[in-house]
Amino acid sequence: MAVPLTSFTAAAKLTHWLDALAGGGHGERFPVEVADVALWVGQEMRWADPIYEVKSANIRNFEGGLFYVEDRKGWVMLYNEAIRSAGRRRFTQAHELGHYLIHRARQITFECTQSDMLHWGPELKLLESEADDFAANLLMPLNHFRLDTEGQAINFEVLGACSGKYGVSLTAAALRWIKSTTQSAVLVLSRDGFMDWSFSSGRAFKRGAFFRTKHETREIPASSHLAVSPSSLDKRGMDIAANIWFPHAHPEARLREMNVLCENYGYTLTLLSMSAGDEVWAPLTED
Ligand SMILES: [Zn+2]
Repeated sequence: MAVPLTSFTAAAKLTHWLDALAGGGHGERFPVEVADVALWVGQEMRWADPIYEVKSANIRNFEGGLFYVEDRKGWVMLYNEAIRSAGRRRFTQAHELGHYLIHRARQITFECTQSDMLHWGPELKLLESEADDFAANLLMPLNHFRLDTEGQAINFEVLGACSGKYGVSLTAAALRWIKSTTQSAVLVLSRDGFMDWSFSSGRAFKRGAFFRTKHETREIPASSHLAVSPSSLDKRGMDIAANIWFPHAHPEARLREMNVLCENYGYTLTLLSMSAGDEVWAPLTED
């Protein structure tokens, strides 16, 4: 019996195929045309139940869905016809394709809401986060994404260029970066001065730079650039004292705070880029 695919191995297999196709001169490599991939991947895998149709539909309350149709011995992939953003539509389709490749033996119906994937944030249900990981791996393969981001000072202009190249939202590109970088950085999504969620790179997390947002209301620090001048957001960032965001940072430690307003969704993305060695843990004596 074949080894079940995971979000990583499924995307790696497709990435390998798509790299080879583009290398052979068969069209542009990016952005990935997910609907096309969905329609040929079943045959390519020699599975008896391919996806036979991908279409928009009036599926209120759902962002996308995947349904097995007994009569056709195959699957239909739907995405909400109200989605106007091409990046969001692409991510939705890739998410549903992830369910098809990884989870279709478990269920015959998948109905996914906006909160399952819009922010592609932490704290999702396992199946949903696996489908999101697959989508990110497929749309922004690390062998390509790293070439675009490594070895340069990261900012929202660089991430915006990635968002354009890979055809995904800025949030998806920023999360892809923060989850794969070896730099010390924290990504925060906030609305009206409060954090919705935050994600730290592995290095930042080990240095104590993270915010708990799951069960706590976290306000944006009053002295942060975002709080002081929310209307003059700067994609390249401002150099500020690290203890504005992390009170226990060394008084001389600095970080770069970058902000961008995502107007369509009414939230702000903040990227805090720190020096690799800076630790911001609270002293052990403190409660
Ligand atoms: Zn889903």
